Amino acid sequence: MAMNVEVAKCTKCGKLSYPTHFYCPSCHGTKFEPVPVGGEGRLLTWTRVYALPLDYAQLYVTLGIVELDMGVRATGRLEIAEPKTGARVRTHIGKVREINGKDITGLVFTAV
Ligand SMILES: [Zn+2]
Repeated sequence: MAMNVEVAKCTKCGKLSYPTHFYCPSCHGTKFEPVPVGGEGRLLTWTRVYALPLDYAQLYVTLGIVELDMGVRATGRLEIAEPKTGARVRTHIGKVREINGKDITGLVFTAV
């Protein structure tokens, strides 16, 4: 099952936004086209979440905010044992959690 996580690209000025806005933050345009999130970026900050709902299989999940080279910030799960702020990471699309046996797909970051 191939899935993409997409950002909105303003058709007027090309500015990328994520999550999607109603108006382009740069030119206030209202027309967007979806662009798949991908490539590499820099880890801005990360946190470990321990108080997980029962449907999580793991004890905790590590979440990070990444400044992607494509120009947007994205939140995702870190698959890095000892994350370091400022580290280079690579974007993947993967399973971030499971709800009632259904896989939920989202962004996963690994070390470059
Ligand atoms: Zn724009």
